[in-house]
Amino acid sequence: MRRFLPWVFCAACAGALRGAETPAFAELSFAGLSPELQLAARRVIVATGARFDRAFGTDVGRRPISVRFAPLAKVASEGEDVAGATGRCRVRNGRAEILVAADAPEALGAILAHEATHAFVAEAFGEIRDPYLGEGLAQEFAAQAWPPLRNELRHLWLKGGPGAAASPYIAGFHWIEEHAGEARFGEFVRTSGAAVSRNLEELERRWREFLKKKE
Ligand SMILES: [Zn+2]
Repeated sequence: MRRFLPWVFCAACAGALRGAETPAFAELSFAGLSPELQLAARRVIVATGARFDRAFGTDVGRRPISVRFAPLAKVASEGEDVAGATGRCRVRNGRAEILVAADAPEALGAILAHEATHAFVAEAFGEIRDPYLGEGLAQEFAAQAWPPLRNELRHLWLKGGPGAAASPYIAGFHWIEEHAGEARFGEFVRTSGAAVSRNLEELERRWREFLKKKE
């Protein structure tokens, strides 16, 4: 986790896939990967989509996602860093373009799940502008895909310091872990839209105000 700060992201895989071939995934294309790694990457993204659907009652994977692998140095300048991997996700005209780089296969799983979460959020809810919510969610699905990330993020949070408290990747993840199981959490995420929190306290305040509103 040394490499996490000041950015931190991630994800990877595990758990039940929705079947070997998931008909829900309209188009998932890869470039720059060996056939073996492509298969592993597909599994991570499909599993992340299935977890996302279970969490929010959605049906993601209907829009095209293209994944391109590039040298680390090329992606690093414009991407987010998760567990030693780097990536970014851009959504344009309903198509998600994920660019990733990693020097270890397990880190690749983490960054793929993280970036795929951004694509699924855009597909299901439109944009979520709040960095603590958006990155926290992406980290949560990354940690579900690659469990060691959860321990690393918890450790960073407990260790504290200004970097952890201000990081959407660490503090946001902590907030998601605390609240994801609560009633109306999904509704809060779904309706978050253009709201932005500048720090974790603002996100918590937004959440409490939301809970006061009628369902
Ligand atoms: Zn992210």
